[in-house]
Amino acid sequence: MGIHHITAIVGHPQENVDFYASVLGLRLVKKTVNFGDKVRYHLYFGNEQGNPGTLITFFALPGAENGIVGDGEVGVSSYVVPVGAMQFWKNRLESFKVSYTETERFGEQYLQFQDPHGLLLEIVEREEGASNKWEFGGVTEDFAIKGLGGATLYSAKSTETADVLDNVLGLELVGKEGEYIRFKSASELGNIIDIKATSFGKGHQGPGVVHHIAWRTKDDAEQLEWRSFVEENGFEVTPVRDRNYFKAIYFREHGGTLFEIATDPPGFAHDESWETMGEKIMLPAQFEDEREELESILIPVEVREIK
Ligand code: ZN
Repeated sequence: MGIHHITAIVGHPQENVDFYASVLGLRLVKKTVNFGDKVRYHLYFGNEQGNPGTLITFFALPGAENGIVGDGEVGVSSYVVPVGAMQFWKNRLESFKVSYTETERFGEQYLQFQDPHGLLLEIVEREEGASNKWEFGGVTEDFAIKGLGGATLYSAKSTETADVLDNVLGLELVGKEGEYIRFKSASELGNIIDIKATSFGKGHQGPGVVHHIAWRTKDDAEQLEWRSFVEENGFEVTPVRDRNYFKAIYFREHGGTLFEIATDPPGFAHDESWETMGEKIMLPAQFEDEREELESILIPVEVREIK
């Protein structure tokens, strides 16, 4: 069903919130901690509901040395906006002094830019995908980012990576253009996956680099079927991990990119109300009795209008 979410590493969490919530106009749908490193934030941004396919999430590592994007990583994360919204986004990025370049592939125009920590992003106009009703800081529904359009995977083993997308995940091959191989999934968002078949050399994790890409599955039962199927195809898959807002399994494709398969349910409004989600730090039950200590360690962050 396409992408569930993309997770990347960034630096200071307030700079992260200022960019994704205030500049890009996304909703901060969940403020929680990294379950594997509870003294660090895990921040989730998406559309007004935080629907799968609209989500980008961040592990904030303030002060850490930047990573390097290389082979076996999601090189570019794409956002989709309504048709006719591109000029709005050029003007908006200019007003926030975010430099961009314009590029074209598969007959589509892309606006490419970086977030404050060097993560590569792009915006593309498409008809498909429901509009995003979250309005903030001058971004209205007519222009708002609908969600993820897809991603570009950097792979030095493009044949193997293409084979996983085609024969394991069941995406449909669209075609080839230059060094790009394009695939498509059944959903309307997070559905266009490009492989860039170039060697970028070895990268390493750190701010500005994507950590993993997660694909959608309908429910727990289907996830277990996926787990067996991926394993039968020769991949080492983790046990199911409860991420509170979805369940997750992980495996690494042969090109090196870390793939996750995540369930759509239960979603982000199950531990706080839809109206207020994203405002308070939410902790999984196992960390709740450490709330006071964790809140004293975590840097306070807020969604605010910036000029
Ligand atoms: Zn994930």
